[in-house]
Amino acid sequence: MNKLKIGWIGLGNMGTPMVKNLVKAGFEVMVYNRNQEKTKALQETIAIRVAGSPADLVTETDVIVTMLSDDTAVKEVFLGENGILSIKPVKDITAVDMSTVSPETTLQLAATCKEHGFSYLDAPVSGSVKPAEEAQLIIMVGGEEEVYQKVKPVFDALGKSSVYLGENGKANVAKLAINLFLGITVQGLAEAVVFAEKNGLAATTLLPLINAGAVGSGMTKMKTENIINNDFKAAFALKLLAKDIRLAGANGLNTPIGLSLSNTLDAAVQKGLGEDDMIAVLKYISEN
Ligand code: NAP
Repeated sequence: MNKLKIGWIGLGNMGTPMVKNLVKAGFEVMVYNRNQEKTKALQETIAIRVAGSPADLVTETDVIVTMLSDDTAVKEVFLGENGILSIKPVKDITAVDMSTVSPETTLQLAATCKEHGFSYLDAPVSGSVKPAEEAQLIIMVGGEEEVYQKVKPVFDALGKSSVYLGENGKANVAKLAINLFLGITVQGLAEAVVFAEKNGLAATTLLPLINAGAVGSGMTKMKTENIINNDFKAAFALKLLAKDIRLAGANGLNTPIGLSLSNTLDAAVQKGLGEDDMIAVLKYISEN
């Protein structure tokens, strides 16, 4: 049994397989999720303990990980009623936020955590549901290096690598930059498919050509089946990518493709595509 006891908050598309990997690696894990049905369902399949609130994790665990939708959700579980910071820790506890949030939220929470006696790492991940299931995520880490070293065994159970990037907020910047590139790739792929189809060339012909050449990538290959099968079930919800590009905008993104991407994703969310996978941007582009 590994020594660190883990508190986990957030059983979404990413959080659920990540908890499974921690249990598989021998960690003792106690879980809180806002929708308690998900916690009950998971408890029927793996050995976890269930917490009634984020605060309940403070007395029971050494490291509390959050994997939540956005800045608002993360602030709520730290600062809200029965939140993590409503309890004063009696020992050294590290909070690790693995969600994609803004560097500002990280700096605010890291400072508030310090006042309350918690250490804090920002540790967003690169990789979607499949890498999460296969413990192949790339984990970027900001905060104190000594704290990173303490938590590293947890990262080792979740990803193929973890990279220490410096002070709090740096990992968030890296994550937003990666997702900017991700968004540009996904919108670019969608535009190429729409262009080809409008000119009488099927996606089934175009996509293998893209994937066979230097312009193909892990992402174009990953989304090929979805495009061909019109399968837009969310691995990474379009609304979450739109959120990330908005966060980049709040941090000074005003480049030509970045602004276009931001407008396209926001418009696609307005059209009701937010819960679909990010590649549903193709539906928006082909219909507008
Ligand atoms: P998701 O499936 O939408 O799950 C979101 C989680 O946040 C759920 O557990 C939800 O609880 C919880 N939540 C939302 N608002 C809350 C609130 N106000 N208070 C408490 N809990 C709240 O999201 P995901 O795909 O797992 O993504 C999680 C994070 O990782 C996001 O920041 C995302 O940008 C990032 N990320 C995602 C991917 C991906 O491919 N999916 C890849 C890399 C990074 P309920 O169950 O109660 O709704």
